[in-house]
Amino acid sequence: MKAVVIRTYGGPEVLEIDPSHPDPVPGPDQVVLRVRAASINRLDLLVRAGIPTLKLTLPHILGADAAGEIASVGSDVVDLEVGERVVVNPGISCGECEYCTMGDDPLCVDYRILGEHLPGTYAEHVAVPSRNVARLPSDFAFEAAAAAPLVFMTAWRLLVTRARIRPGEDVLILGAGAGVSTAAIQIAKLAGCTVFVTSSSEAKLQKAKALGADVLINYKEVPWSKAVWELTGKRGVDVVLDHVGSATFKDSVRSLRKGGRLVSPGATSGPLVELDMRYIFWRQLSLIGSTMSSMREFEEVMKLLFMGRLKSVVDRTLPLEEARKAHEVVERGDHFGKVVLRIS
Ligand SMILES: [Zn+2]
Repeated sequence: MKAVVIRTYGGPEVLEIDPSHPDPVPGPDQVVLRVRAASINRLDLLVRAGIPTLKLTLPHILGADAAGEIASVGSDVVDLEVGERVVVNPGISCGECEYCTMGDDPLCVDYRILGEHLPGTYAEHVAVPSRNVARLPSDFAFEAAAAAPLVFMTAWRLLVTRARIRPGEDVLILGAGAGVSTAAIQIAKLAGCTVFVTSSSEAKLQKAKALGADVLINYKEVPWSKAVWELTGKRGVDVVLDHVGSATFKDSVRSLRKGGRLVSPGATSGPLVELDMRYIFWRQLSLIGSTMSSMREFEEVMKLLFMGRLKSVVDRTLPLEEARKAHEVVERGDHFGKVVLRIS
């Protein structure tokens, strides 16, 4: 099969087309997908650059998100048929450990993500456990489907399950154009929150507004934590979603009201932060981490996408052969929402 692989770690230039990569064979409880669309996540860029603790067998195929048709099924799979249109939940859990039994799949002792720990979706075919696919409505486009899973499942667990957002709360989402932000804006809005967003780009702020953001803050023009403080009458916001990390953490903490919650699904600018503990105890703040989602949360959020209550935000679609360019776009941060790869 055709696939985009890395044979070494580095920049976008290490992405290579392999025209004759070995085809995956489904295990007894797996299906093989004919991938029609895949999408780029920040995670793919981190894996491509090399994660010190992650030992991969090279060449490796990147990519967590995919939608396509079932091409073959394993011997134990009875509920899915060849040709069905599906979307993939990229989080693979054991289904048996203490955490899986509690329904907390992303805490699984053997939790793995497609394209990170396992061969990914930048390919004509990918093998996944049958319990990791969801059927697509017949009119739901592969591109829109492939753009959704990782960012929507992450934003859903983060805001709904972990931060427990409530109607009427103020939720600040940093970096309006990031995939997870475009999902989070819509989810916070659907939950009845007032949504604050930051960006250095007026165009991105306007696009965030079209998704439902209420308060737009251009941090090129004003220090954003100061703006939040003033806009909330020196109260602060209830929740900050900070996926940026070291560059923003201090201001995120300052932007919170007393008793507020800071939620983090990642740290694109770096993982090490300085924390003044007086904010934590005296202002009684909560620092909440989250990653990916459970099977149930995936189903909940995908249902809302299928109903049209939430929408995938696709910045652009490129052919698989242009995966390198797709990575360059995401690395530069030129995009708003997701960059999708089409696999014909
Ligand atoms: Zn488990």
